[in-house]
Order: sequence, then structure tokens, then C-alpha cells
Amino acid sequence: MSQASAKLRSPSPTSCSAWGSRLATKLAAEILKRLFPAPTRRGLLGRRNHHQFVSAMDCGQTPANPFHLCSGLRALGYLMILMVAAIIGVTYYAVVIVAWGPRLLRGGLSSALALLVLGPFHLLLVLLLWSYFMVVFRDPGKVPINWRPAFDEETLEMGSSVPLSDSVAHESRLSTESSSELERRPNIGYCNICQNNKPPRSHHCSVCQRCVLKMDHHCVWVVNCVGARNYKFFLLFLLYTFLEMALDTLALLPHFITFFGDAVNHTTSSTQNLAVTFIAFVLNLALLLSLLCFVVMHTSLVLSNTTTIEVYEKKKAVAWKYDLGRRKNFEQVFGSKKILWFLPIFSKEDLENIPALGGLDFPTHSDVEA
Ligand SMILES: [Zn+2]
Ligand SMILES: [Zn+2]
Repeated sequence: MSQASAKLRSPSPTSCSAWGSRLATKLAAEILKRLFPAPTRRGLLGRRNHHQFVSAMDCGQTPANPFHLCSGLRALGYLMILMVAAIIGVTYYAVVIVAWGPRLLRGGLSSALALLVLGPFHLLLVLLLWSYFMVVFRDPGKVPINWRPAFDEETLEMGSSVPLSDSVAHESRLSTESSSELERRPNIGYCNICQNNKPPRSHHCSVCQRCVLKMDHHCVWVVNCVGARNYKFFLLFLLYTFLEMALDTLALLPHFITFFGDAVNHTTSSTQNLAVTFIAFVLNLALLLSLLCFVVMHTSLVLSNTTTIEVYEKKKAVAWKYDLGRRKNFEQVFGSKKILWFLPIFSKEDLENIPALGGLDFPTHSDVEA
């Protein structure tokens, strides 16, 4: 990069083109700087061996990370909201207006069948939209300014002079402790971009330009990060979208076949209805198949209390320290109130009693056993 910059900074002629040349040089250097930022804090990161892998997963801290380009995803996200609205609009028109709505008025078995399709369709649509807006507008969790872990505050209160950000001293302190004590200690990192401590399981997102608590991933479909405080809403959005699309595909299949028969025989159906039904069916089927992978993946992640970012970290560990057993792992995301499990809300008691929902403190396997 420096050679390229040097070339670009080579002396330009003193003609009137000099100003333009300098401007172009500046612009090119800026673009190169943004695309391939210098690893200025490599030394600092290098000292934190046990955080190195986690740091590499952060969106925006590794020089070779393609996600450096992800700040542009914010703009893309707003287009995605329009796309979600368009998919819902086309599907609603095909299922309700074209395919099943008219059947409601026919009476008898036809009306009963239409009710069986349109009832669940509207219920899932409400739940899907509710979950969607919750995940879009709910803050995934940000790190409080000058946040310190509880055990370091205790140490400071006891008069210790160990600075919090001194990882070498911190690690030497930890090396004298037993493995279960070590497990109970939270993995504290430091974000050089936010200039703030990082609670365990939090990561820096370059799209949101901040650290996010228990970050799972940045989702362009919801123009938001998915983290500790909105992961449940994201999962419900995923689940209800999957169910809605499965229902749409089944509900549109007979009409899809009929419309093609009509088109071949040049009979009744209008071109507009044929086109909308075709698009809705293909869209729903394609998205249904891709969502199936996400549903399976996130079910496995929730039941093992792992985030998408932590998958590789977990593979390296002998035993995943946040794995509390399937039921407890599920409650760490969905809360303990069964009645609210499938609604995008939390009870006040759960928010107070389950620290993981706050995103700053996470019980480990050793905590449960102790
Ligand atoms: Zn940060
Ligand atoms: Zn983000």
C-alpha cells in the first residue's frame, strides 16, 4: 500500500493540472487507506493471545477481513427492508386476493378450506411482522462507557494497583488460579476502536461502528446487529418467516399448477394473476429452502449456547464453557416463562433474573456446578 501511495504522491507538473492531480492522489490514498487499513494496533492485539481469535472474528479489526467493506451494508440494509415489504406484498396478493380470498365466499367445504389457510396465514404474518420490527428497532446491547467487570471492581476496591487493561499482569494473575476458577472469570477484551473494555462475548461491528453485546452477526435484512437483547426476536422472525413460507408454498402449489394449465389451454386466468402467482410461489419456495439451513443452524446454536461468531472458538475448546445443558441454554435466549417463549417480548422477572439477557454477564458450566 505504501508503494502505491508513494507512486501516487510523485511530483506533478506545475501546470494547472497540478491541483487536479493532487486531489486525485488524495482520493486514491484515502480509498486505499479505507480498503486496506494499516494494522497499527497489531502489537496490542498480539499480547492478548486468548483473545486473538475472537478479535479476528470482529467485523473490522483484521487487515485482510473482507468485512472492512461492510459499512456499505448499512445503505443496502434499507433496500432490504423494501425488499421484505415487496415479498410480503406480492405473497399477500397471490395468497389472499388471487388464490384463497374468493373461495371464502363460495360457501361449504371451499370456505372451510379457505379459512384453514387464511387464518394461520394472517396469524403468522402478524407474529412475523411483530418479531421483525422488534429485531429492527431493539438495541442488541451496547457496552456502557468505562465498563469494568465486577471482579476487577472488587480488586480495585481492595486497593490493588493492577490496571484493568494490562493484559500481561492480568494473565499472570489468572495463571495461578485453578481451571474452574479461570472458567468463571469472564473473558475481558479491549476494543481499540471504541477505546473501551469489551465484556465477554461482545464484538466490534464495523457496520454499526460500535461493540455489540453477545454479538451474533450483523444482519442486512433487519439493518441491525443481532446481539444479546434482540437475538430471541431474530430467531422468532426466522421461525415465523419459515412457517409462513412453508404455508404459502403449499397454499399456492395447486393454483400454480392450475394457472399453468390455464396458460397452456389459453383459458380464463388473467396474465397479471398468473405472473403474481408464479413470482410468489418461486420466491417463497426459494426462500423456504434457504431459511431451512438457518433454522437448523440457529436451533443447534441456541441449544449449545453458542453465537455464530463463537462457532470456531467452540471447536477449539475441549468443553464449551457456556454450555449449561439444553434447557438452560434455551432459557438464556428465550427466558424462563413458557407462555412468552414464542412471543417477541420478555417478562420483567426474566430481564432481572437472567443476566445473559442483559448481555454483560454470562453464567458458565462451572457456575452451575458450584
Ligand atoms: Zn468496539
Ligand atoms: Zn452491526
